[in-house]
Amino acid sequence: MRPDLFPFTREAQSLVRLKGHSIDDLISGRGFLPVRRRAVERVRGAIFGQIPEPPEAGYSQEVKDQVELLSYPLARVLVSCLDDESILRRYSLAEAKLCSQRMADCDPPDLLVLAQDLQMEPEIDGDLIWLHFTDYIRSASRFRHPRWKLVNRPLHRGRLTVTTEELRRLLEERVRDRVSQGLPVRMEGICQGLADLLKPLKEDLAARQALDRTDLGEVQEEAFPPCMRAMLDQLAGGVNLAHTARFALTSFLLNINMDVDRVVAVFNNSPDFDEERTRYQVQHICGSSGTRYRPPSCATMATYGNCPGENATCRHVRHPLSYYQRRMREGVPGIQSEEKRTD
Ligand code: SF4
Repeated sequence: MRPDLFPFTREAQSLVRLKGHSIDDLISGRGFLPVRRRAVERVRGAIFGQIPEPPEAGYSQEVKDQVELLSYPLARVLVSCLDDESILRRYSLAEAKLCSQRMADCDPPDLLVLAQDLQMEPEIDGDLIWLHFTDYIRSASRFRHPRWKLVNRPLHRGRLTVTTEELRRLLEERVRDRVSQGLPVRMEGICQGLADLLKPLKEDLAARQALDRTDLGEVQEEAFPPCMRAMLDQLAGGVNLAHTARFALTSFLLNINMDVDRVVAVFNNSPDFDEERTRYQVQHICGSSGTRYRPPSCATMATYGNCPGENATCRHVRHPLSYYQRRMREGVPGIQSEEKRTD
């Protein structure tokens, strides 16, 4: 396992310590310019959804390995200095996705080494990969597709089998946790020294957040009730919605005639976005299994903590769809002034 390709591992961290470079070296040392460029590239990749592989051409392999290894801790400092909750989540996810691409070239024995570094203990037995169910659950409990449910996995003495592909997916979640650990990095006075690198990154982050405000086209977002707007705001901020909130938002959007593709796209900013899984869920709520679901009533929304509080219009309705219909009937302009009358 090459530490430069998996710089979040304990082995890679030990190697960085052995090299003995200080954070000040990385920030201002002349010889570390490629490290700074790559660190910025890592963070910019996280902002826009994907960290690119470094270019093949250019430096010697030895230098490229060093750049890849050292740019990781510097990127962690940069995302911390951006001081934005959403970029921390995006960064962990983007590093995990980069690792996932790299794992595609790993044989099962290499995956076992990586798994052990991530404190998972799979065992290979011929074509089978065995995992203890506690190792499995730690990552798989986040997945919503039925095939990941523990009840759908036969257990043998506390262990179950996964495919190589499934092991990679489980490891990806472990990587996300590993990258998240210790973020944000707090180092007194360090952000001022990074001002030149941070300025364009802040602009990128602001641009991305503006893009993330979901364009709902002919659907009138201004007529949305506070509960649905709050959920869209959370998605725009890269927050994973609770299951009940996902269901409420999805069923609401489908019931105001947004098509499946656009509803799926609404979720593409979720840290755990998986298009196949999301499409499956949206289609299910849309009626693919014979039942078309309606969003929960206001009372149920409140029970699950998904009602952020009533505004003036909420007082007249018992259902988020009624809120939307009422607003549309009234004509959307003027909403702002009424919203302010909340008491
Ligand atoms: S009262 Fe109903 S429509 Fe208003 S925010 Fe709560 S759940 Fe949404």
